Amino acid sequence: MKNFQVAIIGGGVIGSAIARELSKYKLDVVVFEMGSDVASGASKANSGVVHSGINSAPSSLKARFCVEGNKMFQSLADGLGFPVRWVGKCVIAKNEEELSELKRLKQVGMDNSVPGLEIKDGSEINESNVSCHAALWVPTAGITLPYEFTIALAENAAENNVKFLLETKVTGLKKQKNGFLIKTTKGDFNSEIVVNAAGLNCREIVSMLEEPDFQVYPCRGEYLILDKKYRSLVNSMIYPVPVKELGVLGVHITPTIEGNILLGPSAEFIDDAEDKRTTKEMMKTLLKEAREIIPAIPDKAVINAYSGMRCKLASLKEGGWADYQIEEGKQTPGLINLLGIESPGLTAAPAIAKEVTKMISQSIKLKTKNNFKSRRVKGKRFSEMTPQEQSILIKKDDRWGRIVCRCEHVTEAEVIEALSNPLGARTLSSVKYRCRAGMGRCQGGFCTQHIVRIMEGQFNIDVKDMKLKSPDSNLFYGRTREVKDD
Ligand SMILES: Cc1cc2nc3c(=O)[nH]c(=O)nc-3n(C[C@H](O)[C@H](O)[C@H](O)COP(=O)(O)OP(=O)(O)OC[C@H]3O[C@@H](n4cnc5c(N)ncnc54)[C@H](O)[C@@H]3O)c2cc1C
Repeated sequence: MKNFQVAIIGGGVIGSAIARELSKYKLDVVVFEMGSDVASGASKANSGVVHSGINSAPSSLKARFCVEGNKMFQSLADGLGFPVRWVGKCVIAKNEEELSELKRLKQVGMDNSVPGLEIKDGSEINESNVSCHAALWVPTAGITLPYEFTIALAENAAENNVKFLLETKVTGLKKQKNGFLIKTTKGDFNSEIVVNAAGLNCREIVSMLEEPDFQVYPCRGEYLILDKKYRSLVNSMIYPVPVKELGVLGVHITPTIEGNILLGPSAEFIDDAEDKRTTKEMMKTLLKEAREIIPAIPDKAVINAYSGMRCKLASLKEGGWADYQIEEGKQTPGLINLLGIESPGLTAAPAIAKEVTKMISQSIKLKTKNNFKSRRVKGKRFSEMTPQEQSILIKKDDRWGRIVCRCEHVTEAEVIEALSNPLGARTLSSVKYRCRAGMGRCQGGFCTQHIVRIMEGQFNIDVKDMKLKSPDSNLFYGRTREVKDD
């Protein structure tokens, strides 16, 4: 049995941001994550937009943490080595009627102190493929890579001595005199404070200690990914006016850091939070809605699809919009609940982490660490280096000269670095999300066998234990023609 001062349940962007913030202090902190890596839930599958704060009512927590989080993004990106690009966004009005909605959004934004908002005539926007009546220009909206952001926060927290226990599900909680007994699939632990950052499972965690007074309504959002060839379709993000009945922002067209374009997300309230499939019907709907903004999108531009699951606290009947609930358990002091952290949760994460730290400081005296490492050293990708830089590295170590992923030009040295991550994540996905091997056009067809050999030869991982992305996604049953002793 191990004792901690703070135990965080969930290694999504929220749990990882809190872990990173707490790692500035002399504290024993642990993160329990049931997936094989951090960013296993909503934090991996979203739009990757750093929102500005024009969509939530000024008095809401969503607005407050979004605006604060947005301001923190650039310095976090510089220090932790994840990308952010301030491409800006246009919310478009197709007609005079929708123009009044743009005016409303602008006012909400101004009330939230969002700078630079401007309503432009349709002919004035810098988007030759978009025709509209008018647009609200939002210069402080940006894009990031959500999984790289989460990994960066978590790895920096781990480098500052936060313990991450992957593939460790919290199965029970019991209040004790001085804290909590935490039952997990990897044994029992004690902690003075428990932070419930379990995303869609937040209600399940509360119910381990008290009767929850809220419901969670999963709402699936599907996306289409367009080939990089079509990157020039837009310069900035293009949004329709929000869909009020669903409490969502509507199908938007978003450039990604990697040079693709996303169409989506849809919004479908469903019963099963695990049902993350993508459907043919929704693909058609997404294309249809996106073509109302850019008619020139061809069918063949679509190369892939994925979905993410929103954690909503309001049902479809209730209009789908509810504010975040960030508070101590109603009957359980010491349990800090983060409930309903849907969009703009990615943007809000750094500010939410500061708030939770403040809440924790009310019960534990926080002392800053002198040796806190605020920066995470992240080398340049081989594919982004000059030929000169590449040849210097190859001369030093020939693993830089062995290309493992042809599509994305990822080298053996980069795969080894990815597998050596401080969290101990060792799946094919954890390699993919750290160095892009397997993310290209062939989707791992070429590189998988090479990565498997590296895992086996240099990390001593038995093929039977190798996984694609989650604890139950084994890649192999065993070897063919294996010699048996009997
Ligand atoms: C379709 C969609 C689009 C979005 N777009 C944006 C956007 O563009 N910009 C933006 O700012 N926000 C966006 N969001 C919101 C953002 O993605 C979420 O707010 C954020 O990722 C929530 O993070 P989280 O850590 O709370 O949840 P998650 O990432 O889901 O993390 C929760 C973690 O807890 C783990 N867990 C659960 N139960 C247990 C247990 N019992 N034991 C151990 N571990 C457990 C899970 O495995 C999971 O990894 C979007 C969300 C969706 C779904």
